[in-house]
Amino acid sequence: MSSLTKCRLVLSNGAAKSSATKWLNQFRLAKSIGPVCQRYSSSLHAPLTVLTEDELVMKDTVSKFAREKIGPVVKKMDAEGKTDPEVIEELFKNGLMGVEIPTDFGGSESTFGSSIVVIEELAKVDPGISVMVDIQNTLINTLIMKLGTDEQKKKYLPMLATNTVGSFCLSEPQSGSDAFSLKTRAVKDGSDYVINGSKIWISSADVSGIFLVMANADPSKGYKGITCFIVEKEMAGFSVGKKEDKLGIRSSTTCAVHFDNVRVPASNILGEYGKGYKYAIEMLNEGRIGIGAQMVGLAQGCFEATVPYTLERRQFGQRIFDFQSMSHQISRVATQIECARLLTYNACRLKEAKLPFVKQAAMAKYYSAEAATETTSKCIEWMGGVGFTKDYPVEKYYRDCKIGTIYEGTTNIQLNTIAKHLEKEFDEL
Ligand SMILES: Cc1cc2nc3c(=O)[nH]c(=O)nc-3n(C[C@H](O)[C@H](O)[C@H](O)COP(=O)(O)OP(=O)(O)OC[C@H]3O[C@@H](n4cnc5c(N)ncnc54)[C@H](O)[C@@H]3O)c2cc1C
Repeated sequence: MSSLTKCRLVLSNGAAKSSATKWLNQFRLAKSIGPVCQRYSSSLHAPLTVLTEDELVMKDTVSKFAREKIGPVVKKMDAEGKTDPEVIEELFKNGLMGVEIPTDFGGSESTFGSSIVVIEELAKVDPGISVMVDIQNTLINTLIMKLGTDEQKKKYLPMLATNTVGSFCLSEPQSGSDAFSLKTRAVKDGSDYVINGSKIWISSADVSGIFLVMANADPSKGYKGITCFIVEKEMAGFSVGKKEDKLGIRSSTTCAVHFDNVRVPASNILGEYGKGYKYAIEMLNEGRIGIGAQMVGLAQGCFEATVPYTLERRQFGQRIFDFQSMSHQISRVATQIECARLLTYNACRLKEAKLPFVKQAAMAKYYSAEAATETTSKCIEWMGGVGFTKDYPVEKYYRDCKIGTIYEGTTNIQLNTIAKHLEKEFDEL
């Protein structure tokens, strides 16, 4: 392969300029082909849907993994409303619960882009498993990697990468969208904090070992008293409560958790005292890109489970796909899925490039949930009566997609965020 071809490949693979430079330096060719590469890097942008080599490997591996290891138990998990423990074990064995965690701590040391690809591929097969992996990678691991002390990283990252599911505990009965009016309290007692209160809607709580808990340690300061604590399942006074019987993503369990005088050492504060609200906002901004990816994968999985049927099923002597009113609808939905993917990948690339991404992440989450809703609804219609039965996976995707408009900020909350950015942009004109 010529140097120029290789240079083009590296750049068009979506790799950042720095990767290309790294490659060039590695092969000591910088001097001879550097100017050509510079010309390409400044004039030719990699298309958003072109993945890096790492991401491509991840996509192929996870796609196969999801079909082989998760596919056979999707219906069972949905019927029972439970996460199959063997699936969790396999996720850990395959490095999917610690995608970005450094190898020194037992993780896969890959990128945020790879996490997004993993979430999307898993959602094609089971959106519930996808959200468990999403929360682990984009919220729990990221928070500990970014904010953890050396001791916290040494203790918790190997667990999260190899055998322990984590949960993110923010929502309470009286504080959903208005998250920072939370009532859970943490009172200092010697070198410990004593936590009291209850959280609801906590994903994976019944299978988790580590809980990142937002509690107010100084209500006189309002939301600026909110502090993030690392709570372990075994700590006295901690308990998992009622499990919700949900419409969709039933393979991801959702439970209340209770704190009854849970004594947590001050060394288990994650990041700075009083900064919990800031960390929660920042993490959820990133996490929304993950939910965008979950909805894109869900829509794509549903579409792929449906279109072949329209190419086979015949009515009035022809394939139902061939009715123009059908093929136009199918084309419109395919375009919506592509738009959702582009918004999601763009938000991901902006975040990776350390550029502002909050508006784009809100757009990606909002639009992907809309696209998934439209896709799954149309897919049922395109299949007629059989689409309405449990003999085909389409009705499950239809149930699973609804959550995309609710968690990690409802659709209205995403639209509020987008509106705030628009107002600011227009004010600055
Ligand atoms: C399956 C599932 C899993 C979840 N997992 C987790 C988890 O792991 N950890 C966690 O902490 N939480 C989790 N949640 C909670 C989730 O984030 C909240 O349900 C969500 O933030 C909405 O809060 P709420 O349910 O109290 O709705 P509310 O806030 O009561 O909203 C009800 C309606 O009012 C609208 N509304 C509220 N405020 C405004 C406003 N300012 N402007 C316009 N409209 C508004 C909303 O858009 C919505 O339509 C989960 C929820 C579910 C259902």
